Amino acid sequence: MPASAGFKPVRRAAVIGSGIMGSGIAAHLANAGIEVLLLDVVPAALTAEEERKGLTLQHPAVRSRLASGAIAKMAKTEPAPLYDPAFAGRIRAGNLEDDLQLLGEADWIVEAVVERLDIKRNVLALAEAARKPGALVTTNTSGLSLASMCEGRSEQFKRHFAATHFFNPPRYMKLVEIVPAEGTDPAVVERLCGICEKQLGKGVVIAKDTPNFIANRIGTYGMADTLRQIERFGLSVEEADALTGPAMGRPKSATFRMLDLIGLDTLLHVLDNVRANVTDPDEKAMFARPAVLERLAADGRLGEKTGAGFYRKTKKPGGRSDIEALDWDTFEYRPRRTVSSPLIDAAKAAKGAGAKVRALLGADPASPQAAFAWETIKGTLLYSARQLGHIADSITDIDRAMKWGFGWELGPFELWDAIGLEQSVARMRQEGETIPEWVADFVAAGHRSFYRQEGGRRFYVHAGSYAEEAQKEDELPLAALKEAGRTVFTSGERA
Ligand code: NAD
Repeated sequence: MPASAGFKPVRRAAVIGSGIMGSGIAAHLANAGIEVLLLDVVPAALTAEEERKGLTLQHPAVRSRLASGAIAKMAKTEPAPLYDPAFAGRIRAGNLEDDLQLLGEADWIVEAVVERLDIKRNVLALAEAARKPGALVTTNTSGLSLASMCEGRSEQFKRHFAATHFFNPPRYMKLVEIVPAEGTDPAVVERLCGICEKQLGKGVVIAKDTPNFIANRIGTYGMADTLRQIERFGLSVEEADALTGPAMGRPKSATFRMLDLIGLDTLLHVLDNVRANVTDPDEKAMFARPAVLERLAADGRLGEKTGAGFYRKTKKPGGRSDIEALDWDTFEYRPRRTVSSPLIDAAKAAKGAGAKVRALLGADPASPQAAFAWETIKGTLLYSARQLGHIADSITDIDRAMKWGFGWELGPFELWDAIGLEQSVARMRQEGETIPEWVADFVAAGHRSFYRQEGGRRFYVHAGSYAEEAQKEDELPLAALKEAGRTVFTSGERA
C-alpha cells in the first residue's frame, strides 16, 4: 500500500509500556518531532534509594518511576535511541493510574506492554476509555491475535485499531509491519502507512492477523529448520554460522550469534505461539521446540543476556575477552574455531547474494555443507510460498519483511529467482517435495521468475501474472535502472 495522499501527521502520541520496545518507540517518535506521553505501571515497592530519600509509594516521582527511569536511560543506551539527547525533553513520563486522562490528548496511542493477552486487553480497555474520538490505537505485539486482543472493544475503537510491529531497535530497524484487524478502517491503515513511512522514515509492509505476522513467522521457521538440518548434517556451531551468514546474503550474526542476541527464551516463546495457533499438524511439527534450545534454556543459558548460549564470552585477565563455542558432544564450551572450506571460500569470493548462494548450491551435493545449504534454503522458499495469501497478500511484502526485519540481502522470492526458479523447482520435485500450487501453475504457464525488470520498473508475480511494484519513495531500484542503462549519479567524465 503506498504512503497515502491524504496522510495526516501525528503531533502528539502516547506510548504505554516503557520497556525495551516502548522506550525505543517513544524515542523514535520524539526523533520525528512528536510530543510523547510515556506511561507504565505504578511500582509496588520502593527502591533502596527511594527509601533512603524518605519517599513513599504515593510520591509522584515513585509512581512514574518506570517511565521516567526509561527516559533517563535513553541517553546511556547503545545504539542511541535518540537522534539528539535533547529530544528526551519531548517525552513526558507518567503512570497508568494518575495520568490516564492525558491519553485523551494523543492522536496515536501505542501499546507496548509485556506480551500477554490478558494484560494487553486491559491496557486497550484503558485506552478506549481515555482516547479522543478519531485517535489511532496500535499494538506492538510480536504476534498475538489482534482479534482476541480487541475482544470487548467497541466497533468505533476497532475501526481505529491495528498493529504497528516495530523491530528492535526501533530507531534503526527499517521494518514496521502494519497489521489491520478485522474491523480496521482502510483509511486508518493508509494513515498509519503514511505516519510510519513519511513521519518516522520506516519501511512498511502489510501483514495479516496471523501468528507472528510475516518476518517472525518465516524467520523462526527458518531458525527451527536450520537447527534440525545442522543436527542432520552434523555441522558445528561455527560451520553453521559460516554458511548461514554473509555466505547466504544474510547478516554476520548468522544463526547462533543471532539466537544468542535475541535470547533463546524469546525464540521458544515465538515457536510456542505459532504452534499453539496454527491448525495444520505438519506446521505444528515445524515449530516444535528444538531439543538443543530446550536443553540450553533449562540450564539458564539463554544467550548474551545470561553470558552464555551457543557462544560464551569470557573475560581474560587484562580485560581481553575470548569467545568460545558450544560443543555438541559435551554441551560445554571450547575455543571458537575459524572455519574454512572450498565451498565457503567460493561463496565468500562471489559478488552479491545471488552469486554467493549459487556458489553454495553449485558445489557437490554430496558434501554435507552443500546439502545443508540447499535443504535450509529449500525449506524457507517452500514455506514462504505456502504462506502467501495467508500471512501476506504479496510476495513483495514477504521479501521486504525479511530484508528489513532480518537483514537478508534478498527476500525468499528474490533468492528463488537468483538460484533459478525452473531448475530449483525441478530439483525439489525430484526430491519428492510438494510444490505449492500457485508456484507449480506459474512455472507451468512458462514463467521463469517471480520478478521481472522492464525499463527501470520492476514487476512481481501477483494472482498468476505480473503487477508493477509500487516504488517506495526512499528506494532506488538500482538493478532495474542498471538494466535500463540509466545513470543515477555521475561524478563527471572519466579521463
Ligand atoms: P519489556 O519486558 O522490556 O517491557 C514490557 C513493559 O510492560 C514494561 O515496561 C512493564 O513495566 C510493562 N508491564 C508489565 N506488566 C504490565 C501491566 N500489567 N500493565 C501494563 N504494563 C505492564 O518488553 P518489550 O521487549 O519492550 O516488549 C513489549 C512488546 O513489544 C511485547 O508485546 C513484545 O512482544 C513486543 N516486541 C518486542 C521486541 C523485542 O525485541 N524486545 C520486538 C518487537 C516487538
